[in-house]
Amino acid sequence: MTNERFSLQGRVALVTGASSGLGRHFAAVLAQAGARVVVAARRLERLESLVSELEQAGGQALPVAMDVTDSDSVVTALTTVENQFGPVEILINNAGIGDPRPFLETTEADWDRMMDTNLKSAWFLAREVSRRLVAKGQPGSIINIASILGLRVGRDLSHYAVAKAGVVQLTKALAVELSRHRIRVNALAPGYFRTEMNDEFFATEQGQRYIRRQVPMARLGQLEDLSGPLLLLASEAGGFMTGTVIPVDGGHVTNPL
Ligand code: NDP
Repeated sequence: MTNERFSLQGRVALVTGASSGLGRHFAAVLAQAGARVVVAARRLERLESLVSELEQAGGQALPVAMDVTDSDSVVTALTTVENQFGPVEILINNAGIGDPRPFLETTEADWDRMMDTNLKSAWFLAREVSRRLVAKGQPGSIINIASILGLRVGRDLSHYAVAKAGVVQLTKALAVELSRHRIRVNALAPGYFRTEMNDEFFATEQGQRYIRRQVPMARLGQLEDLSGPLLLLASEAGGFMTGTVIPVDGGHVTNPL
């Protein structure tokens, strides 16, 4: 009974930014729970090799090329998905960039690229996926990947922190409007996980020291730490949850001042 509530058997899920890091892991977790998983990003070769792996493990998956900053590319990809798998019922808005740089050195182009990739894309994908679900009267679950930097700030990440705070507010605002259509909207706010986004920093002694000092659990997150929270929000196990923002961070965001 408990396991059934976490099952995603036959559901259609789409993960943006599935060619690397967290998104790649999310795709595997969803496939293992029985979902048919659409993996989206710009680097199609990586998606194709991920799909082979998921299929070898007994899952069903589909790669789609998508630049989340290009609305035509998103709409084209969603149409392909709908024709092959049906409408997306579980959307993981995960694609994102890091781009650490001091505020005084940030250009208008840096700001726009950050907002387009990390915030506007989540808004646009949520709107497109929701419109399709509402037209068919189907329920859904949207999970936005925010960050603890959407709840606190960090040095040299002003544009990133603002975009992620926007993702947090987007999550709550959409949760309120979409609940009458049976679409739940929640967010995960990960702490630090070592991926291509931050690998250089965590390869340094300074990076390791930062984690030991700042994170109460004194370690980086392991991708597996995100699996349970993701499945909870995606499945019927989290059926009465909407508008929540769940930190998965070893206590980092609650570290005392
Ligand atoms: P990675 O750099 O490993 O992966 C980023 C992914 O986003 C890639 O698959 C990339 O695919 C995709 N992406 C970037 N730009 C675009 C675009 N324009 N169109 C489509 N896809 C795009 O980073 P992470 O896995 O670490 O990050 C994933 C998410 O998690 C991000 O939103 C990040 O902000 C968030 N996060 C990460 C944390 C961490 O510690 N790692 C902490 C908190 C939040 P491609 O280049 O192939 O298009």
